Amino acid sequence: MKFSVVVGQQALKERLLNGCRSGKVPHAQFFSGDPGSGNLALALAYATFTLCSQRTDSDSCGACPSCIKMASFTHPDVHYTFPVPNLKNKQGTPDFYTDWRNTLIQSPYFSYENWMLKLGAENKQGNITNEECRAIIRNLSMKAFEGGKKILLMWLPEYLGAQGNILLKFIEEPPDNTLFLLVGTNTNRVLSTILSRSQILRVPPIEDEAISRFLKETKGLDQESADRTALMSGGSMIKAEELLNVTENVFLQPLREWMNMCYALRLNEALKWADNFSGEGREVLKGFFGYAMEIMRAVAVQEILAERSGLSTQEKEFVSRFAKIVHPGKIENIYNHLNSAYYELERNGQPKYILSDLSFKFSRVIRSAD
Ligand SMILES: [Zn+2]
Repeated sequence: MKFSVVVGQQALKERLLNGCRSGKVPHAQFFSGDPGSGNLALALAYATFTLCSQRTDSDSCGACPSCIKMASFTHPDVHYTFPVPNLKNKQGTPDFYTDWRNTLIQSPYFSYENWMLKLGAENKQGNITNEECRAIIRNLSMKAFEGGKKILLMWLPEYLGAQGNILLKFIEEPPDNTLFLLVGTNTNRVLSTILSRSQILRVPPIEDEAISRFLKETKGLDQESADRTALMSGGSMIKAEELLNVTENVFLQPLREWMNMCYALRLNEALKWADNFSGEGREVLKGFFGYAMEIMRAVAVQEILAERSGLSTQEKEFVSRFAKIVHPGKIENIYNHLNSAYYELERNGQPKYILSDLSFKFSRVIRSAD
């Protein structure tokens, strides 16, 4: 993947290129950012640039044998590590490598939830296994096939448990010509021993203008729709692409019902609903919270955007109705509750309890006098 196809993030691209030009490349770098920010895309472009045999001053060539292997994610000197669900069968844990390649070929902008869904494991927790850590060590101990650098690209080191500590020796004293590229979202959840040995690169949300340009050039949107969708996306390519795809979202109906129950103080009903809906499973619920946050953000900016091209007619209807009853300060409150609930779910909180608790909180927020 060339730097030129990574959406936006010009300042970071420059910073990475400057590092390469000066020859001062840290051997472990942590690309920390939201999944839609392009942290993974940047790391892939960086790896491609590092290995390219005919690179220019500012980008890889895209045509040399190394670039061609990188484009199909089959370069023998790049080892990819990512969380996988525990779906052990008689043959052991499937390696999911083909899924990984196919996913990357489609788009390097995807979240942990997208990935688990793709593997048909939405209710399972993923992790980076012990076996995988041993495979990394085996792999990095070998000489580079192509005589250049070896790269370990680890996506979401936050899913590395204590077993990850066996990698420390490697990160501390890496074999010659070895680069560690860690790509993650939440540095708080990464083993501190690993984090402290890496240079952290904060990947901010993508500039609206860059997303808008991308939507115009590759998705054929007119300027106005591209600008609106970019604004709605909050700097996330994942959200921008979701907004393009969504015609009718399956989460709208439950969200509408839930908010109605909270507004009308039908709390018994809300508790029954929570009981029922929590049966959908943790990962579906995370998606639901993500969607609800998206809609709340649309409610918050709805005065700025007279028309929102990213939303379906029903969603627009809900958003404008909700904005009339609930003022922006309250929306922010609701958004923050959803956000905390999302993280509580990630930390294995009980779905049923979280949903019931949220119902009480929302009723209080929506009905409060101020
Ligand atoms: Zn090349």
